[in-house]
Amino acid sequence: MNFASILDGKLLLTSEIPLSAPTITYLQRTQQLIPTDSITNKFHKKHCQRCGNRQQHQFAIIDCSRCHQSHWYCRHCVETGRVLACDPLWRWRGNKISWLFQANPCDWQGELTPTQQQAANTLTAAVITKQKEQMIWAVCGSGKSEMLFPAITYAIRERKRICLATPRADVVRELFPRLCQAFPHTEIEALYADSEDRTGTGQLVITTTHQLIRYQQAFDLMIIDEVDAFPFHHDPALPKLTTRACRADATTIYLTATPRRDHQQRIKRKQLPVVFVPIRFHLQPLPVPVLKLEWQLRQKLKQQHRSQQFEKFRHSRSKSRQLLIFVPTIALTQAIASQYQATAVHAEDPARKEKVEQFRQKQIDTLVTTTILERGVTFPSVDVVILDAGHEVFDEAALIQIAGRAGRSPDDPTGHVLFIHQGKTEAIEAAVKQINMMNKKGVAL
Ligand SMILES: [Zn+2]
Repeated sequence: MNFASILDGKLLLTSEIPLSAPTITYLQRTQQLIPTDSITNKFHKKHCQRCGNRQQHQFAIIDCSRCHQSHWYCRHCVETGRVLACDPLWRWRGNKISWLFQANPCDWQGELTPTQQQAANTLTAAVITKQKEQMIWAVCGSGKSEMLFPAITYAIRERKRICLATPRADVVRELFPRLCQAFPHTEIEALYADSEDRTGTGQLVITTTHQLIRYQQAFDLMIIDEVDAFPFHHDPALPKLTTRACRADATTIYLTATPRRDHQQRIKRKQLPVVFVPIRFHLQPLPVPVLKLEWQLRQKLKQQHRSQQFEKFRHSRSKSRQLLIFVPTIALTQAIASQYQATAVHAEDPARKEKVEQFRQKQIDTLVTTTILERGVTFPSVDVVILDAGHEVFDEAALIQIAGRAGRSPDDPTGHVLFIHQGKTEAIEAAVKQINMMNKKGVAL
């Protein structure tokens, strides 16, 4: 049996090793599996070596049924299996994993636009020269995944191991079949919280960032999709997990349409190389949001009075497109939906997937939603309205992402984007500025 294919690049609890107990004992005795402490406790500061958690309130004590003592365990990573202080983590020290040589791994027949090609060349060059980091700042709808194909092709040909990490499971599910089609002879695996096959042995692993908890020094090429998105942006443990999953000379590629301030500052200081893709794959500019001020908007929405600006817009627009309405709270999704005979959807909605699919199939004309639909969803022909765009849930990135839902299809590359607010916020101004900046860069190409 080829143990390296199962264990190389992994950091596993005993219960996660997919081998029989005698085999595990044999691998330990021959020092191919090396134990390390799972929870260290230096100067009374506990540190989970599995997920990187150092927040002391995230540790709790439990009575261990095996050694009949009380142990610390980490609550931060408990959803991916409980790690007790008496339970070691295992690293592989045996022979290295090796992948089959493929001269032409990529079967994709499509063609990149000149801008996409330029970005793809930059990425491939970064992988060839083992550059540490490279960012792609690409507008919503620029066709990001296809731009990655040449760099992935190079890495597979060089028998390197690749990880494509994304914050959300639905993106993993969407990318998996596309990559299987593009790279039909490569072992590809999709990992997310309830994914079926979980050996994690692929040469190309597509995963949610949380699943990287089981990897250490595994990947030569790490691609982090939507690096600015929740929860990656909010959980300091996640960037550490991706770093740990990389080999020492790995290249990390960040993809984003809306980089956060820290990345923007590193770009300005020329610490982070960036390549812009300021234009969509259909070569049309981004729809620029129209801003409409309405006095006492919040109060009106609260009292279930109609927004005058929205009424005006509703009556003036052509009905050929579907309508996507964003509101700041779950309560408002219901209220607005019942006012306009529309459908409401939000994060806790058990029928969320079905409703989004019905909207995609055009069985629903108007969908009222929260920021859960700000990213990753593509509808071919929609107008977009935000009611109360000045609300704090709509930060700069959210506003740009929401505006980016319109005009995605080459058959209908425009679309109205309307931000109704009761006072312009910094986020609104910054979002419009960034959209205009990208359009300007796009025209200059
Ligand atoms: Zn932990």
